[in-house]
Amino acid sequence: MIIGILKEIKTEEHRVAMTPAGVEMMTARGHEILVETRAGAGSGFDDDLYRKAGARIIDTAADVFARSDMVMHVKEPQPSEYGLLRKGQILFTFLHLAADRALTDALIKTGAVCIAYETIQKKDGSLPLLTPMSEVAGRMAVQEAAKLLEMSNGGLGVLLGGVPGVEPGNVLVIGGGVVGINAAKMACGLGARVILLDADLGRLRYLSDVMPKNCFLLMSTPAVIRERIQTADVVIGAVLLAGARAPRLVTREMLKTMKKGAVMVDVAIDQGGCFETSRPTTHTDPVFVEEQVIHYCVANMPGAVPRTSTLALTNATLPYALELADKGWQRAMRENPEIALGANVIDGKVTFPGVAQAFDYEY
Ligand code: NAD
Repeated sequence: MIIGILKEIKTEEHRVAMTPAGVEMMTARGHEILVETRAGAGSGFDDDLYRKAGARIIDTAADVFARSDMVMHVKEPQPSEYGLLRKGQILFTFLHLAADRALTDALIKTGAVCIAYETIQKKDGSLPLLTPMSEVAGRMAVQEAAKLLEMSNGGLGVLLGGVPGVEPGNVLVIGGGVVGINAAKMACGLGARVILLDADLGRLRYLSDVMPKNCFLLMSTPAVIRERIQTADVVIGAVLLAGARAPRLVTREMLKTMKKGAVMVDVAIDQGGCFETSRPTTHTDPVFVEEQVIHYCVANMPGAVPRTSTLALTNATLPYALELADKGWQRAMRENPEIALGANVIDGKVTFPGVAQAFDYEY
């Protein structure tokens, strides 16, 4: 199969859909890889690295689209690319269609086979192509919070790990899924006193087996949040209710009881945020202050570390891309139900129930 790797054109997106190491594995299986020039530049992979791995470098996106059986992106195609997709061509990327009617309509018109990273799902319900980005965001949340706690950044001037003879900082993580466990591990590693909340007792039992001694696990209730927030130096919001808006677990009233200069990182902001006072921010202007508490609410946190994010994402996407290339989309979907769940729009029809419901399309 001929596979095209496109340069990302969405603002602030520096990841790339395949690394040179991925190209090497694809070409070893007999596939031909076309890479748009400078596609890997933002992630530290220049054209020469791709050439050495066996790819052909192509000057324009239009040419990559025209020559490829399958095109891969990281983010959804932009309006300038809609007309370049064609009937029967595979598009494999993050799509998030249920939130974007214009894009859904555009993809329907193309007749292409549009497979979304975010709806590929394993038997146990986990989302293998979203997990790596949650891992990055969870780990980054603590790094950002630690820096914002410094007084020159408006924080209350606490070192999370403390020093011998001085107490460490208190970190409250709300939600013990992928983001939460990664945030808690980082905070524990720094030596902070960490409280990790989840609303699922089974999950708490699992976490109690795997987390270090300085991580304390509590059932998430409004009473626990109201009490623990008062002593927290850092609060990290990491809850998810599948397919729904994030629940608002921290109210403005609770915020008023917090320490002045404490830091809130609302990782769940991409689902609306779990603090009443949250609103989305960007990497160029990431923080704001409400009730004397610093808020960091960047909706695409992995975008700040494109090199790590690209490697993490492509580790997860490559096996699926290989299977699609080896078998073609029809056989891959027949034989692998995880890939079948990735089908969002095929040959002008919406094939994912969540997207069809969002816009009242026939399914
Ligand atoms: P996940 O499904 O792995 O974990 C969510 C956890 O929240 C689950 O363990 C669930 O039991 C728990 N939960 C649900 N209700 C709760 C409550 N009331 N109190 C405490 N815990 C509760 O999800 P995840 O991958 O960890 O993602 C968490 C959020 O982070 C999502 O909204 C996701 O979209 C977002 N996210 C944001 C970024 C970013 O850049 N901002 C990046 C990646 C993920």
